[in-house]
This record gives sequence, C-alpha cells and structure tokens, in this order.
Amino acid sequence: MAEVTAGAAALAVGVEGSAAAAPEVRLEHLRPREVEAAMKACPTLYMPIGTVEWHGVHNVVGLDAVKAHHLCVRAARQGGGLVAPALFGGVGGMDEPHTFIMEPENDIHSVLLRSWLDRLCREAVRQGFKAIIILTGHYGAAQQMVVRGTAVQASRALGIPVLGTPEYILALDAGYLGDHAAWGETSLMMHLDPTSVDLTRLGEPPHQGVGGRDPREATAEDGRRLAEAIIGRLAHVASAMPKWDEPTREAFVAAEEAIVNRQVSLAASLKQVWAGWRNLGSGALRDYGRLLADARFEELRKLADGL
Ligand SMILES: [Zn+2]
Repeated sequence: MAEVTAGAAALAVGVEGSAAAAPEVRLEHLRPREVEAAMKACPTLYMPIGTVEWHGVHNVVGLDAVKAHHLCVRAARQGGGLVAPALFGGVGGMDEPHTFIMEPENDIHSVLLRSWLDRLCREAVRQGFKAIIILTGHYGAAQQMVVRGTAVQASRALGIPVLGTPEYILALDAGYLGDHAAWGETSLMMHLDPTSVDLTRLGEPPHQGVGGRDPREATAEDGRRLAEAIIGRLAHVASAMPKWDEPTREAFVAAEEAIVNRQVSLAASLKQVWAGWRNLGSGALRDYGRLLADARFEELRKLADGL
C-alpha cells in the first residue's frame, strides 16, 4: 500500500497545512541516523493496533489497524514522533467470516495482547523512547479495557507516560461515539484510505455485521472532520508527553486509571462487559479529547465518575 497511501497522506497533510513534503515517520522504513534524528526531535512512539475482522461488504477486513496506522502516521507528521508497524491481532471480533479471533471477545484478562503490548512498551523504553501512544482502531469493550489498563500499568512500571486508547474517544465531541463498519468507521476510511471503501457493494439494510448508523450515509468530508479532530489531539499530546514533569505524569496516569478501573468494576458488578459505556451517549466522556490535549488531568479523572 506504500506508494498510494503515502501519496494520499502527503496530500492530506498538505491540505491540513502542516508540511508540504511529508517526512517519513514509519519506523520500519527508516535508517538508523533517521531514527535517531526523529527521536531527538520527539521521542514518542505510536503503536497502532487492530485486527483482521469482517467490516461489512464495503470495507477491507484489516480496517481497524489500517485506520489506526493512517491516523498515527498523520499525527506523527504533524507533531513529531515515530510510528511502529501496525499490529493485526487483538481481543475478540465479530462472529462473521474472515475474522481472526485471537482471544475471546469478552476476555478482559487477555494473555496474548496484554503481554505483547507490555513487552513492546518495555522494548520502546529500552530503545530510548520517552512516551508511547497505543492507538487501537479495534474497539470491543474488552479490547479497550485491556489497552487502557496495560498502558496504565506500563506507565507506572516504566516511569514514562503511556496512553492506550481507541481513536473514537478523542472525537466524542465531534459526534463520533464509535461504531462498527457503519457511518463513522466508513467515513474515516473514505478520507484516510479512499480506495479501500466501495459503497456500491452495500445493498439494503440491515447490513451484515455492521453496527451503527447506515454506512450508505458515510462521506469523505465527515471522515476528514473526525480525522482532523483525532489527529490534532494526538499530535498535541504526542509532542507534550515526553516533556511532562513527574506530577503531570502522575495526574495523567491517575486519570487514565480512574477511567479503566471504573469500566472494569462496572463490567464485574453489572455482569455486562459494555456496562462502562452505558453513559457515553449522554456525554459521559464527551470532553475527554479536549481535556487530554490541554493536560487538564484533574478534570479528566472526574469524568470517570460519570461512566
Ligand atoms: Zn472496526
């Protein structure tokens, strides 16, 4: 996908007004001196993750990781940092064709993903990175809790800030609450990776294995709006994270921990893995992206009480 993707991304970066010639930020495509220069400028590592899963007849099965990788690449071009190769594999997936389920859908304990991410974070620190953003484009409830929980644990153990989040949480105030292959994900892909979407494949609803607003309403313009909200915030946070002092990092970790702890305890007490998301529609985490970007972590921590 390299050339077409890089071309489209360069164009988008140009439109977003940050750089005429987009720098290479994909770690696996850099030589040692280029890695060193990039890390000196901003020692943040992005880890885009997703899985291989049915995303309707109109989207590619690798959507989640492809989407996360595009977002990370554009954020890194805007705010600095490097992007690790995308990981395809996670917790759960739909009971639909062409879906690789590496761990059970509701497994918040997770043996594979948790330990893989934990080791990746340790390696990133050993390589000299001072901050990590794990961006999951795949968002089952357990996947989200495992990613955020592992990030909190890694932050504490490694003494650097590690953010682990699905991308849609950064765009709640832009009107995207997360969906599956529906209006939101499809719009994002129409903007980020236009050739990957074929809306003409869609028939009449109900659309098989699609959850959310009708994907026939998806537009590249909606995708651009959502992507810009997500990318702007990611870039801002990625550039700030390595410079946070210890109290700031502590406040960040406390806020992230409060959110994931609340999600996990609600799932246990209400015996429903999605219980921590019941108030998302009424705006429980609406301000998450803004507060994170502004490093207002006391207020961010209080959002957890509303879940
Ligand atoms: Zn998805």
